[in-house]
Amino acid sequence: MKLRIGINGYGTIGKRVADAVLKQKDMELIGVTKTKPNFECRIAMENGIDIYASSSDRIKLFEEAGIKVKGSLEDLLKQVDVIIDCTPGGVGASYKPIYEKYGIKAIFQGGEKHDVAGFSFNSYSNYREALGRNFIRVVSCNTTGLCRLLYVMDNAFGIKKARVVLIRRGADPHEDSKGPINSIVTDPVTIPSHHGPDVNKVLKHINITTIAFAVPETLMHVHVLNLELNNTASESEIIKALSNYSRIKILSAKDGIASTSAIIEYARDLGRKRYDIHELIVWKESIKSFGNEVYLSQAVHQEAIVVPENIDAIRAITKTIEDPEISIKTTDESLGIGRW
Ligand code: NAD
Repeated sequence: MKLRIGINGYGTIGKRVADAVLKQKDMELIGVTKTKPNFECRIAMENGIDIYASSSDRIKLFEEAGIKVKGSLEDLLKQVDVIIDCTPGGVGASYKPIYEKYGIKAIFQGGEKHDVAGFSFNSYSNYREALGRNFIRVVSCNTTGLCRLLYVMDNAFGIKKARVVLIRRGADPHEDSKGPINSIVTDPVTIPSHHGPDVNKVLKHINITTIAFAVPETLMHVHVLNLELNNTASESEIIKALSNYSRIKILSAKDGIASTSAIIEYARDLGRKRYDIHELIVWKESIKSFGNEVYLSQAVHQEAIVVPENIDAIRAITKTIEDPEISIKTTDESLGIGRW
């Protein structure tokens, strides 16, 4: 029997996770919630996705707009095994009592605090620890990118200390009221930014300090890493270690990929829907080794990187696949991950 999945909050992350669920042979998308009857609602319906109002008092808004909803969030919860909460950061926590009332397993996103779920998830790093839990939080886009890279480097060479500067995109492309538009903003000015402690919710033993800035750009985040390793690692050994993982893709400036916009153009030329890049991108030429001290730069497509982790989180929380490698492979094949 297929896992019955609902999605609460059909925005940037919700619509991408919904599309990914539709591609899984072991899952069925029962429906998504919307707060307003806007264009996203109409497109979802054209794609055969059932819409539920985020609360029963909002059903009339949809009726007035001529959109037929199947009911409210509570009607959706009665039919699903797992709800993926993709509501704005901080809103998910307010829904936890409702999910508990219906006895539904829930997956929260990185905008929620760790304590909302009590467990922060990254597929490579801690899949097995997530098995059978009632609540999971898939960590944010930045933390997902960092966890993937640090997990692989720690396994291969041992990390003594990680120092990271994050250059965050100011807003997602559709967010017309967010910024900055003419400044580089400290995020925050003090050290560490929240990203290092968040990595430690997943990879508890990694010694990491992070500093973050937000910039007037919407395409991707960039991270500059300086890693002190327990063992020496040459540039070719690092490339070999990273290349073993499908969700990390090494691209080369020699191939014309020296910026985030070039990465995005590549994804568009590949025909990726919404130019989504689920892979963490590492620039080949940025990998520089000084024995046991390594530098590298990586780029994160904030809108898409957490999508495969949400799909794996469904299998982990329901314990339907216990082996992380099997879930990751299944997810990756369904989403075309690694095909560049
Ligand atoms: P979003 O604003 O694009 O989408 C949120 C959706 O939820 C919208 O459709 C909104 O109408 C709806 N919504 C608002 N209030 C609601 C309510 N009370 N009940 C139900 N639905 C409601 O937000 P997003 O960017 O998709 O972020 C969702 C979560 O994912 C947040 O925790 C965020 O931190 C995290 N996240 C976002 C990104 C990103 O780059 N956008 C990346 C990784 C993780």
